[in-house]
Amino acid sequence: MDVIREFDPWDGELCTCPQKYSLNPYTGCGHRCIYCYSTYIPNFFEPRRKKNVVERVKRDLKKIPEGSLISLSNSSDPYLPMDKRYEDTRRCLKVIKEEGMKVLIVTKGVNVKRDVDILKEMNSAVTISICTLKNEIKEKLEPNSPRTQERLDLIETLSEEGIPIGVRLDPIFPNLTEDEIPRILNKASKVGVQHIVSSTFKARGDSWNRFKRGFPDLSDDLEELYFEKGERIDNSYYLPEQKRKEILERVSKGCKKHGLTFATCREGLPVLTSSDSCDGSHLIRDRL
Ligand code: SF4
Repeated sequence: MDVIREFDPWDGELCTCPQKYSLNPYTGCGHRCIYCYSTYIPNFFEPRRKKNVVERVKRDLKKIPEGSLISLSNSSDPYLPMDKRYEDTRRCLKVIKEEGMKVLIVTKGVNVKRDVDILKEMNSAVTISICTLKNEIKEKLEPNSPRTQERLDLIETLSEEGIPIGVRLDPIFPNLTEDEIPRILNKASKVGVQHIVSSTFKARGDSWNRFKRGFPDLSDDLEELYFEKGERIDNSYYLPEQKRKEILERVSKGCKKHGLTFATCREGLPVLTSSDSCDGSHLIRDRL
C-alpha cells in the first residue's frame, strides 16, 4: 500500500475507531492549528501535493476489499485552499466511488460543498471540526481555517443535501473553550448535525509550546493541570481523568438533551459513548 494506509493512530491503545483506511490527498496542512497532533511530519504547516496521487490511489484501491471505509483525512485537511485549484480531493473521491468504497470526510474546509454531487452518490458521511464559536479564539487556535460560522453554514447546506453530518467538538481546552460546550451543541443541533465526537486537548512538546505562545495568561494554570496533576499516555500529556470525565460528561448530557449521538475520542471513557462508532462512520447509510 502506498497512499492509502490502514488507520492506526500511533498504535494508541485508547483508539476506538472501527477498522478503516486513511487517505491524505495532500501532505501537510496550512490551517496551522496550534493543537495539531500531526506536526511530527516534516514541514507540516507547508502543505504540498502528492505526486500522481490519483494513479496511486487507484492502485491501492485494488488491494483493499470492496465496501471498505476510507477516511479523508486524518493527518491533514482534504479541503485546503489549494484544493480549489488542484481538485486532487475531488479526483480521489471519483476513483474511490468507482471502486465502491465508503467514505468519511473529516475537514474544516468549506470547499467540501463543491463535492456534494459525488458524496451524494456514495455511501458517505462528513464530520466538521469545531472547537470554538468565538472568532478571536479561533484566530489564535486555528489561524488559517475558515470561520466557525462558515462551517455552520456549510453543515446546514450539506444536511439539506442529505449528507449525514457529525461534528468533531475537538479539542476542548479547559479554562478556555469548555464553557462554550452548551452553545456549540445547541447550534450544531439546529443545523442538522446528528453525531458529536469529542475530546480534551492533549499536550505534546510542540503543541504545548504553541499554546503557551498563543495564550500566555492561561499557561501557568494549564501547565499545572497537564504536567503536575495530569497523566502521560503514550506520547501526550492528558488532563487528570476526573477533569476529563467532568468535561466530557457535560458534552454527553448536552448531546442527550439535543438528541445527538455521542462518543469520546482517545479518552479511555467508553462508558460515555452512545453511538455505534466514535468517528461518525455509523452515520453512513447504504445508498448504493
Ligand atoms: S486542520 Fe487538522 S491537520 Fe490541519 S493543522 Fe489543523 S489539526 Fe492539523
